[in-house]
Amino acid sequence: MPYPNYTEELLGLKDISLKYVKRCDNKLYIHIEMHKRIHTCPRCGERTSKVHDYRKQRIKDIPLFGEITVIYLRKRRHICPKCGKRFYETVSFLPRYYRITNRLAAYVIQSLKEVGSMKSVSKLVHLSPPTVARIFDHVEYSNTSLPRVISIDEFRGNAGGEKFQCSVTDPEHRKVIDILPNRKTEDIARYFLGYKDRKVVQHVVMDMSEPFRSLAKSLFPRAKIIADRYHVVRQVIWAFENVRKAEQVKFYDSRRKYFKRNRRVLLKRPENLTEEETDQIASMLKISEKLRQAYFLKNEFHKLMECKSREEARKQLGIWNMMAAGYNLPEFQACTKTFINWSEEILNSFEYHFSNGYTEGVHNKIKVMKRNAFGIRDFKRFRNRILHVMS
Ligand SMILES: [Zn+2]
Repeated sequence: MPYPNYTEELLGLKDISLKYVKRCDNKLYIHIEMHKRIHTCPRCGERTSKVHDYRKQRIKDIPLFGEITVIYLRKRRHICPKCGKRFYETVSFLPRYYRITNRLAAYVIQSLKEVGSMKSVSKLVHLSPPTVARIFDHVEYSNTSLPRVISIDEFRGNAGGEKFQCSVTDPEHRKVIDILPNRKTEDIARYFLGYKDRKVVQHVVMDMSEPFRSLAKSLFPRAKIIADRYHVVRQVIWAFENVRKAEQVKFYDSRRKYFKRNRRVLLKRPENLTEEETDQIASMLKISEKLRQAYFLKNEFHKLMECKSREEARKQLGIWNMMAAGYNLPEFQACTKTFINWSEEILNSFEYHFSNGYTEGVHNKIKVMKRNAFGIRDFKRFRNRILHVMS
């Protein structure tokens, strides 16, 4: 039975022998050598273990026992007895061009999966932020196929000299497909034209953005476009809020403040109101005819959103549009105009239950990332970091 190599077990490094360990200033210095092996000459192919000289290499490793760990490898330089070529022995645990172990590089990359900054990771592993960034630059995500359902949306990323970036996600499998450098339609079109399998896309979810819709229609002519439901409701909430704000400026001070303070009660669904809140609303609506109309339209719209089928929704949307057009509220007339223009896409959301909910979550996570990392300015790094964190 061979004697187990506890050094290899403990350090997790293969084919090494431990020379000595020194501890000083909270650092652990581990001096090692590789086992002596026969190497093949890179020039002539002769096999040899003849040593020419040694060089000490300083290698950073992952913290061991909670201490900064530095490995000193006494590296052999061999000499070929046949052709005289001098060459270093191979070390399996070292990546090329770095004075760190493979596993430290892997640990850095793993740590960057969290939304924290490169700076916080660099502190954790005791490497400089530029080194951490350079290690991360080896990570690259690319995507070659599209899913059945895609969601496309813009967000304020401030990367690569552009204010807005676009995210492309797969809401069905909750995956980020890609991050695009800007929201210019010609660039987005060029990006999607790079895919050979555009035909597989059956549904495209988006908010009610005209440029995105015409883009989707030309890129995915067979796909159904779905308006994001939350975005549709938001239009109505905004219209309602604008009516409230316009009305309350007409009030005297204490009443205005009262309305402002109780805006949340007004936004609640009637079925969720307490008795006291119901009375409160009744007295608020008594004061303004416009607010009463807006309140009615808002609640009627919630009813529409609860429709269970496309047909039911089609009827309700028609009724709602008529009612909203009938009142003298420009805010709601603007809604009606949008909803008529987007009626097919809105009704699609009652037939196919995909939304931008996942995308919104991704955008929120990006926001946190950006808060932690003072501007990931370089777009390539920005994109890879998002795809890395979301993968
Ligand atoms: Zn040789």
